[in-house]
Amino acid sequence: MKDDVKEILFTEEEIAVKVKELGQQISEDYRGEDLTVVGILKGSNIFMGDLIRKIDIPLSIDFMVVSSYGQSTESSGVVKVLKDLEYSIEGKNILIVEDIIDTGLTLDYLKENLFRRKPKSLKICTLLDKPARRKVDLKVDYVGFEIPDAFIVGYGIDYAEKYRNLPYIAVLKEEVYE
Ligand code: 5GP
Repeated sequence: MKDDVKEILFTEEEIAVKVKELGQQISEDYRGEDLTVVGILKGSNIFMGDLIRKIDIPLSIDFMVVSSYGQSTESSGVVKVLKDLEYSIEGKNILIVEDIIDTGLTLDYLKENLFRRKPKSLKICTLLDKPARRKVDLKVDYVGFEIPDAFIVGYGIDYAEKYRNLPYIAVLKEEVYE
């Protein structure tokens, strides 16, 4: 796996510091309120597991599994919900947790989809953001790191289902996916 990595962008330690900061900010913002954290699988799995342990207010969790890439490295814009939420979100404060926002098409679709279920509030938290690649106007409430236009793996994020277990966030060598 390591041989396929071009560059490490963020080490385990750097990620841990950032996740702690995000958790503290979210705890402050929602203190005294209910909170449901919705993880978008599979990519947000590890981030979400770490993040919720840095949030010190009571919360519930739920998950959606969506697919927008298939085996490719480009978002198709067509989002398929492979697994929906287990619980109703009506009247609840919902925080969507995503791994990366690239074109924004996936979250644009999901925001619209979840808004129709009448939550009390709906915010977005992403570990990584590639603002230069955005195709739609999307308000993102919590961002871990802004990153340049490169194909990323590690810390839960895959290429063709591999590399999720790398403990750091890295740029994949082009020859791996070209
Ligand atoms: P968007 O719809 O914003 O273009 O893409 C969002 C989804 O595409 C993310 O949830 C993530 O799963 C995937 N994605 C975006 N950029 C990357 C990347 O650099 N590497 C990997 N492995 N997946 C990405």
